[in-house]
Amino acid sequence: MSRYFSEKFASLVPYVPGEQPKERRYIKLNTNESPFPPSEKAIAAAQEATKSLQLYSDPTASCLHKAFAATVGCEETMVLATNGSDEILNFAFMAFCDSEHPAIFPDITYGFYEVFAEINRVPYEKIPLKDDLSIDVDRFMHRKGTVFLANPNAPTGIFLPLCEVEKIVKTTDGVVVVDEAYIDFGGESAIKLLDRYDNLLVTRTFSKSRSMAGARLGFGIACPDLIFDLVQMKYATNPYNVNSMTMAAGLGCLDDEDYTKKNCLSIVENRAYLTKALEGAGFVLTNSKANFVFAKHPDFSGEALYHALRENGILVRHFKTPRIADYLRITIGSYDECRAVADALITLTKPLSERILP
Ligand code: PMP
Repeated sequence: MSRYFSEKFASLVPYVPGEQPKERRYIKLNTNESPFPPSEKAIAAAQEATKSLQLYSDPTASCLHKAFAATVGCEETMVLATNGSDEILNFAFMAFCDSEHPAIFPDITYGFYEVFAEINRVPYEKIPLKDDLSIDVDRFMHRKGTVFLANPNAPTGIFLPLCEVEKIVKTTDGVVVVDEAYIDFGGESAIKLLDRYDNLLVTRTFSKSRSMAGARLGFGIACPDLIFDLVQMKYATNPYNVNSMTMAAGLGCLDDEDYTKKNCLSIVENRAYLTKALEGAGFVLTNSKANFVFAKHPDFSGEALYHALRENGILVRHFKTPRIADYLRITIGSYDECRAVADALITLTKPLSERILP
């Protein structure tokens, strides 16, 4: 840290992204990326866009807004494209949280919420998940504040039924942000509640189901007034937040919905395969509706399994957080990748007497 670093950030603990190792080739199941390449149409469109890189990208992103709105079934005035969904989440913290409206989110959820609260210097409250790692809906109801719910939640993968989400939206004096980064792999979108609630913001990403994590594209979907507020944040920070290659790739991707649907289906099938294989080896799993499973073994620590997998060339995610320290979060990859991680975990957790090797 330099001596010029502002005092106000002295205690800031930044978000720690999953590793992106370069030193060797791993089976990489640690950051919930897609195992499939982007749509051919997205690649071709992004390439074409490189020819005009001397120009700024379109700050209104109107073509992209139109195409995305048509895909999710809402008005163009109800969407805002951002640099990954992390950016729309940050805008929500900036626009809707203050001392009157503290941020409220579960104690075990996407780690960036706490970092956004800290960097924006807004008060926040973490509400513990129940013992079964599900959201304690009652404790979120009738609150004054800005609620952040990842649905399905991360890293548990557990989906909160829409009727429960609605109870929270209906009774909150403030905005409720439903982060649907993983919604394409199961569950029901809260977008259908938007015509009834003006305090609901749904966020989406192209990083998972649409194989575009490196392009950085996310969206907010809400009533036009909330979108207006978020647009203010965009123009106050980065008017060209979505670059022209990403904008073009996003349009190409939206023109290839069958490809996205086919890939989501494969992920759901591979998730079922991996779940069954791990349960067969004695693992306990949450009911994940996301592109990852969350699993623990009664006889082995999560940390030990994480390191053993790593030595076997397989990267998964392990969190040291109390209550979930024995779990591994394993991204659903291709069938071969899922088979490799299942085989490795089955071997690693076999009782010593059954192991072939000394
Ligand atoms: N929300 C959740 C729950 C996530 O897990 C992630 C990915 N790490 C994001 C949002 C952000 O995704 P991105 O910025 O790539 O759209």
